[in-house]
Amino acid sequence: MDRLGSAQRVLVIGHASPDGDAIGSVAGLVLILRKQGKKAVGCIADGVPWFYRSLLGEDLIRTPDQIEGAVFDTVVAVDSSDLARLGDAQALLRGGAPDIVLDHHRTNRGFGRLNYCDPDSPATALIVYEIAQALVPVDVELAQILLLGIATDTGFFKYGNSDHRVLEVATELVKRGASLQRIASAVLENKTPNGLKLLAKMLDTVTLAADGKLAYGWVSAAMLSETGCTQQEAEGFVGEVRALHGVEVALLFVESPPGEVHVSLRSKSHVDVSEIAVELGGGGHPRAAGCLLKVPGVREAVQEVVPIAIRALQ
Ligand code: AMP
Ligand code: MN
Ligand code: MN
Repeated sequence: MDRLGSAQRVLVIGHASPDGDAIGSVAGLVLILRKQGKKAVGCIADGVPWFYRSLLGEDLIRTPDQIEGAVFDTVVAVDSSDLARLGDAQALLRGGAPDIVLDHHRTNRGFGRLNYCDPDSPATALIVYEIAQALVPVDVELAQILLLGIATDTGFFKYGNSDHRVLEVATELVKRGASLQRIASAVLENKTPNGLKLLAKMLDTVTLAADGKLAYGWVSAAMLSETGCTQQEAEGFVGEVRALHGVEVALLFVESPPGEVHVSLRSKSHVDVSEIAVELGGGGHPRAAGCLLKVPGVREAVQEVVPIAIRALQ
């Protein structure tokens, strides 16, 4: 907090392929710093997916090429468990480490000069909310952005991390004018017809193993090109696989670009999927984790990960 206090020109970076928490935490921290009269800008490697854009001001988060050459005295990384998660935004660090890391992944590697990681916090946006409370008034714009992060990382208050504290903070943010309906509509009701076709293809791949306790499905590069979709449209698919009766571990393999397969791992009650993800070079939380594999295709990724998941279930 003291380190942030002395900062004047701040760059806030979130992870590539951003989710609502990465976007909410970056935009929220930028707003707080600007309210304090500092210069601050956010950066996310792939930019902000279009369906989030109605929820935040467009000058808050840029892509790395838009801020190349700008000078900062402080770089903060949020919602990211290791340097590689920053994707192309790593170049802005010019080989150095972020000054501050704010995160909530149990698997955080402590890659900043100063690291604040609270694995018991359901969202990084909740940590940013606590910073806001200490420093600035939480107005409707900030409330909306922070609620985005909290709502999405708790599965809209359905996951095991939705404790009374989360609901109390959400209540406070709604009291300040944030709209859950706007967030839910932007995130959940902006699917595309092509995305539905992709979902149909993915559902066709769903396979059960380990006596029905493991379920996995995949999206190959060919499936993406056949339906005219990007990786973004597969967001949330792993939830469909996890929703199967009797399933404890769900896996989704998404090949994009060809030669890289992103694996999403989810569990319902006892398997710690973050341990599997770490074994594969990724990270995450006990019930939701991910990793990126450099393999020729989804088949190879399935062959590598499924036996590890079956072992974890024994
Ligand atoms: P996802 O399956 O992409 O929705 O990610 C689930 C969780 O795992 C999130 O908390 C991510 O931050 C984390 N995660 C996803 N991919 C990676 C990765 N390649 N390395 C570390 N953590 C990851
Ligand atoms: Mn995230
Ligand atoms: Mn998060």
